Amino acid sequence: MTKEKIAIVTGGGSGIGLAIVEKFIATGIRTIVVGRDEQKLKAAKEKFGTLCETSSCDLSNLATIPALVNELVQKHGHIDILVNNAGINLKKEFTDVTDEDFQRILQTNLTAVFALSREVVKCMLEKGIKGSIINISSMASQYGIPKVIAYTASKAAIEGMTKAMATELSPKGIRINCIAPGFIATDMSAKALNNDPERKAKALGRTPMGYLGDPADIGDAALFLASDAAKYITGVVLPVDGGNSIGF
Ligand code: NAD
Repeated sequence: MTKEKIAIVTGGGSGIGLAIVEKFIATGIRTIVVGRDEQKLKAAKEKFGTLCETSSCDLSNLATIPALVNELVQKHGHIDILVNNAGINLKKEFTDVTDEDFQRILQTNLTAVFALSREVVKCMLEKGIKGSIINISSMASQYGIPKVIAYTASKAAIEGMTKAMATELSPKGIRINCIAPGFIATDMSAKALNNDPERKAKALGRTPMGYLGDPADIGDAALFLASDAAKYITGVVLPVDGGNSIGF
């Protein structure tokens, strides 16, 4: 009998993360939603039922991460897939961004991704799991979008980290990939675009497909990268952006 696949999706209670959880569960992957919002976790559990597990954790509190992973491994036996999706944005003039602002964004979007990946990789190696880790960056990492300095720095770093991890861990059977979403319809993009019609017009104007992506589009890409269909793919940064990155 094949072992049940177990996945962790951070920030899986809303937006893109929720869509990834939905895709995983639909294919029978037991999925642990890690998030800091109890209400969202409860709603996910109610929506998806028995294959959905939840664990409350503020990932910016790095000291709690080893115990979290330990607890999940004790309970579920192993972890096959980690999706580092949780993230926060800050839209502010460059000169108004404080050191604390900058650090806060990096702590969640980058340092927590490193710390969680490190703990999960330790467990994968210990149990001989052929694992898959998927980081969620942003097309912001490749553009020069004004007023999102910390966010851009964090997402560019995630892409570099994906490649460094892939070279070190792929020989040990763990694939590391990254998805770079374009403009996807979620609360986060609504906050960034809805009060800024100029930015929204610019985003859509350079998107050949002409509309914002659906969170499920990222869910499909994550499911593919997590699956055996992607067993020879590692170290890639996959844009899922309706052509935004090549649009003129
Ligand atoms: P969202 O705000 O709906 O989801 C982010 C989730 O992360 C939330 O559930 C939030 O509670 C969780 N989270 C944030 N900080 C956390 C912490 N410290 N501990 C635990 N959970 C935490 O936004 P989204 O649009 O679904 O974004 C998901 C990911 O996709 C993010 O990494 C974001 O940067 C990336 N992204 C989104 C877009 C877009 O257009 N929506 C574009 C590019 C990249």
